[in-house]
Formats: sequence, structure tokens, C-alpha cells
Amino acid sequence: MSKLGYYDIAIIGGGASGLAASIAAAGAHPGASVALLDRNLSAGRKINATGNGRCNYLNRNASADTYYSNSGPEAASAVLSAVFNAHPVGDLLNFFEKLGIIPAEEDEGRLYPRSFQAKSISAALIRAAEEAGVKIITGFSASVCNRTDSGFVIHSDTSQIIECGKLIIATGGKAGMQYGCFGDGYRFAKAFGHTVIKPIPALTQLTVREDISALAGVRAKARIGLYEQSVQTYRVPDDFTPYAAPEKIKMQAPKTYEERTLRALAEDSGELQFTKETLSGICTFNVSRFLRRVPGCEYEAHVDLFEEYSEEALKDLFSARFKEFGTLSGVLFGLLPDKLCSWLLEGFDGSPEALAAKCRDLVFSIDGTRSWNDAQVTSGGVALSEVDPETLQSRLVPGLAFCGEVLDADAVCGGYNLAFAFASGLLAGEKI
Ligand SMILES: Cc1cc2nc3c(=O)[nH]c(=O)nc-3n(C[C@H](O)[C@H](O)[C@H](O)COP(=O)(O)OP(=O)(O)OC[C@H]3O[C@@H](n4cnc5c(N)ncnc54)[C@H](O)[C@@H]3O)c2cc1C
Repeated sequence: MSKLGYYDIAIIGGGASGLAASIAAAGAHPGASVALLDRNLSAGRKINATGNGRCNYLNRNASADTYYSNSGPEAASAVLSAVFNAHPVGDLLNFFEKLGIIPAEEDEGRLYPRSFQAKSISAALIRAAEEAGVKIITGFSASVCNRTDSGFVIHSDTSQIIECGKLIIATGGKAGMQYGCFGDGYRFAKAFGHTVIKPIPALTQLTVREDISALAGVRAKARIGLYEQSVQTYRVPDDFTPYAAPEKIKMQAPKTYEERTLRALAEDSGELQFTKETLSGICTFNVSRFLRRVPGCEYEAHVDLFEEYSEEALKDLFSARFKEFGTLSGVLFGLLPDKLCSWLLEGFDGSPEALAAKCRDLVFSIDGTRSWNDAQVTSGGVALSEVDPETLQSRLVPGLAFCGEVLDADAVCGGYNLAFAFASGLLAGEKI
């Protein structure tokens, strides 16, 4: 067993939130020794993969209201408001500008570094942490954290030990496991007595039961709705004797009957992408976090390929085009990608109006989501009700705090998840 030393503050996880926390901790506690531990051989590895290597590091519209949490509205609002009151987007922009990062803005408030290079963000954070005196210890994979009389002891999986006075857990969730996130933070949190709301992969593709391999590679503008179908089965009373009125013919009574209820969970519009077996694209990613599978329920995606038309207008358009071009393929020609037209028309022998209705509500049976490796974020995590909103410190264990994706907060694509990682990291680091 080798002891790597004692630090006043140790942070497990050198990702977006851990780097921000380390810079803030060193700044807020002059003279304190701060260590940032990461299992990877360099900090900020996941940051380099974000935004397709361009890093959509913030969103101009990020605020408490743009996040989801499963921790209940009161706790979620308290924590998210405190985080963004302490570090609103303007403040985060200033923080990065001081590190040399000038933003370039794209649609819907998405902010990227002017270089459109994710490495600019990770390099800026690592440099700032080093300049602030943070000791960055890479290749340290924390396996167990224990409370001691004066703080904490962190064991690595290669029998190294680091002792610290205060501890920030910034290990991320389970999304993007290939970047070193295996959900260890949840294990540490549970060992300290915290509640962890079941983590599920979010911002990922939805896997489809139907054979859609013929659609692989197709992209189409669409609205996608995710629906939950619950099936309630009732037992028919034994003494029930049905008759078909008015002839009073005795019928065979069914033993059970089913009641199906369809509930909309989420919807979004954008470019829908098809792969061999999944629905993909940002609009799919954004609804994926709502696929929190409940036993006994089934899930469906309803796709509207013509949301810019009213139902009537689309029927009129299709019947006019049918009169003009004489075939259903003529109706669809030029409106949708060829592969999608062929797929829609395969085995279809309805009217142009029925085809319009089909295009407005294409139903796919959803099997689940892609694995953790394909997810961009985790929905679920350490319950927000168990952290102090003003400091992100544990309400259960003094000297312990959490920041970033390990907490139960997530958002749609667009720079919101990194914004939360940075804002919560800064808050946790300042207040530890
Ligand atoms: C491919 C991809 C693209 C994305 N693109 C964007 C985007 O453009 N914009 C956006 O806002 N969000 C994006 N996200 C989401 C965003 O990257 C995360 O929400 C954010 O990085 C979370 O920050 P974090 O610091 O909490 O965790 P992470 O960035 O995941 O960092 C956690 C760190 O902890 C380390 N660690 C974990 N366990 C241990 C352990 N036991 N011991 C030592 N170290 C440990 C890991 O190695 C990792 O470096 C993307 C995610 C992925 C996977």
C-alpha cells in the first residue's frame, strides 16, 4: 500500500465539473492544498469528445428551468436555482473568457469555443488548475472512500491511498463509459448513506422492435413523440353471463379484458435519423431521457413527417398530387427521402388521404435505449434533496460535496449539461 499524501481538499473526477471545482477551491481557499484525481491518463478526456469534438460548452439560455431532475420539484428547484444564481451563464462566460476562451454562438443559444476545438476548453481548464496550484493526479482510479476522524481516505484500485480533509465527488454518471465513467460516484454516495435515483442512459438512440434496416442512413425533418402504454388487465367475474342483444344469443364470456392507456411522455422536433435498428438524431436524444421503463408498460414513438401541415392541409395536398401524378409514389416523390418513400409504400394500398394520415403518425414500438457507451448523459443520480443547495455539500456527511453529472440533474442537448457541470463545480469548489 503506498500513501500518496494528504490534501486539504481532494476531488475525485477530473472532468468538466471536477476541473471547475478544483480551480474554484484553490481560488477560494488560498494556502489550502488541492488534489484532483482522475483514472484517465489526462484530465478532461470526455470534454475532448463533446459536441463532436467541437465542445458545445454552454448554452445562453441555461437556467434552473432548463433542467430535469427526478428528485422532486422542491429539491430540484432549490438546488438548480442556487447553482445558477451563484453562476449564471454570464458569469460562466466571464470565467472562460479569463481562461482565454471567446464564444462563438450557433442556433438556439449553443456556445462553442471560437476555435471550434474541444481541446481548447480542456486545455484552458487544466492550465488554470495547474496555475492555481492544483495537484492533478492522473491514473488514479478511486475504488473505496471512507470517513476518518479528520476527513476522508481514498483507496485506489492499485492500493494507493490519498488522505484529505474535505472531499468533492465529481465522478460524472455512467454515460460515455469509454471515457472513464462507470458510476463509481453512485457507489461512493450510497456507501456514505445517500439515496441514488436509478440512473438511466439519456440523450441516446431509441431501439426499435420493427425491422427498419432498410431505412439506415435516412434523415428527415420530423416531430417525434414518446408514449407510454400501460395495460391494465381486469378479471371478468365468474358469474357474468353475456348476451348479444337483441337476439339474446348466449356468448362465450372472456375470462379477462384489457384496458390500454396511452400517455405522452415527451416530444421534440428536428432532424430524425434512422440507423439499422434505432431512431437517432437530437430530437430522439432529447426524448430518450423519459424512457424510464415501468414494469407492465410498453413504449412507442409516434413520428410526424409533416408537422408543418395541418391534418386537412396534408390530406388536400396528397389528394391533389394523386390527381396530378396518378400514383402514391408520385404523391410522395420529392417530399421525403426515396428510401423512406419506398418503406412507407411497401404493402400499403390505401387512399392518398390514408397515406397522409400514416405520414402524420408513424408508430414504432420502442424496445429501449442504446447502452451507456452511446448515451451522452445520465438521468438520475444523487438525490438533490440530500445536498445543501447553497454549497452542494452532503446533508449527511460533513466535509463531503457533489457536483456535475453524479447529481440527479440533466438536460436536453445544446450545451446545458456542460453548463451545469461547470456551474455546480464552481459552486462546490468555492463553498467546500
Ligand atoms: C460523446 C459525448 C458528447 C457530449 N457533448 C456534449 C456537449 O456538446 N455539450 C454538453 O453540454 N454536454 C455534452 N455531453 C455531456 C457532458 O459531457 C457531461 O454532462 C459532462 O461532461 C459531465 O461532467 P462531469 O464532470 O460531471 O463528469 P465527466 O465529464 O464525465 O467527468 C468525470 C470524470 O471522473 C473520472 N472518474 C470517474 N470515476 C472515477 C474514479 N473512481 N476514480 C477516478 N476518476 C474517476 C472520469 O475518468 C472522468 O474524467 C456529452 C457527453 C458525451 C459522452
